[in-house]
Amino acid sequence: MPAQPPSVLTFEDARHVVEEHASQLRPHGKELVELLESAGQVLAEPVNADRNFPPFPRATRDGYAVRAADVAQVPAELEIVGEVKAGGSLDPGFQLQTGQAVSIMTGAAALAGADAVVMVEYTSMQGSRVAVNRTVTTGENIVPVGAEAKRGARLLNPGLRMDHAAIAIAASVGRSRLLVYAKPQVAVLSTGDEVVDIDVPPGPYQIRNSNTYSLAAQIRAAGGEPMLLPIAPDEPERLRELITDGLEADLLLLTGGVSMGKYDLVEQVLADFKAEFFFTGAKIQPGKPVVFGRVPGSAKYFFGLPGNPVSTMVTFELFVRPIIDALAGATPQKLVCRRAQLKSEIKTKTGLKRFLPAMLSGEFEQAEVELMPWQGSGDIAATSRANCYVVIPPDREKLAAGEWVAVLRK
Ligand code: AMP
Ligand code: MG
Repeated sequence: MPAQPPSVLTFEDARHVVEEHASQLRPHGKELVELLESAGQVLAEPVNADRNFPPFPRATRDGYAVRAADVAQVPAELEIVGEVKAGGSLDPGFQLQTGQAVSIMTGAAALAGADAVVMVEYTSMQGSRVAVNRTVTTGENIVPVGAEAKRGARLLNPGLRMDHAAIAIAASVGRSRLLVYAKPQVAVLSTGDEVVDIDVPPGPYQIRNSNTYSLAAQIRAAGGEPMLLPIAPDEPERLRELITDGLEADLLLLTGGVSMGKYDLVEQVLADFKAEFFFTGAKIQPGKPVVFGRVPGSAKYFFGLPGNPVSTMVTFELFVRPIIDALAGATPQKLVCRRAQLKSEIKTKTGLKRFLPAMLSGEFEQAEVELMPWQGSGDIAATSRANCYVVIPPDREKLAAGEWVAVLRK
């Protein structure tokens, strides 16, 4: 039995416990990767501006570079004395004089003497002259040198998970390689005498191992590297061996064997490792028997996730992600919660916070959500058709149609 008395926490308390532990965790290795390979990984070095951004006063519109004072009264007629396209320039000594305009394109450098760009839409050209039909203020449609970032300024901080915008920044400062934290290795250990691997024909009362694979996919999506262990039978010796192997990784995820059944041995065997248990259940559905703890010698964390496939998936999203974030070097993210209007009434029992597979449709103000009919937390068919979970607070017996509810992404 667990070394400490079992504790079943509310969802919020359990989540808080995980976040506290995550805040103590640090990544270990770093590696240099090609820019594109860094997508989804966590930056391990600062990225600074190697020049001013923009490096020249940049026109943001196609039109005419002018002196704003010349078009204070409109219509105004100016003489076109040149053209500058993106990447181009005029003679070094060029200076725009009163009464002159230069045709300019988006992305080109605004020229000396010009202090605004009039959009081409507000002009009409006749030969070498242009009529301007709208006034501009000083600085309009020109981004000054260094307005977005000064040379040497910090653009990206270590700990940032590289997304497309961060990749754009790294590209714009000429970084073809980046130092990122190594992906944490996460061991996956499915347990159960009835579970067989996917290339083995299952007997009449056996089921194929799906949890190892769903977890591996979730680990990858979270920025970890899955390490798949063989299936553990409901027998302490072999389970102990496989747990020992799993503790070689940065984090160990077990599935199955954490409920109240006679052959649910996971906690018992972990207790033999002198494991500390931070919680042995959470008031949620699916996923109530979820276990979180640490093995002192190795200081490795583990989760015992309930074996029901949907419980495994949900408890990963709710509790495992912050630990993987931290081991990957990222600041653990809060759960992203959207809101949608219930299509039909939901009746339920109080006491557990529920995360039920559902179908979200419509966008923004029109977002609507409806529960998927399902057979409970073993029903992966219904869950695979769902695209989110509706979150039902533990104190609600009934949610009316039309009510705005929280929705968690799948
Ligand atoms: P347990 O948590 O061990 O009591 O298992 C709960 C349910 O999940 C049982 O119906 C198991 O057969 C099923 N289950 C356990 N492990 C897996 C697995 N790796 N893949 C698919 N189903 C599983
Ligand atoms: Mg089992």
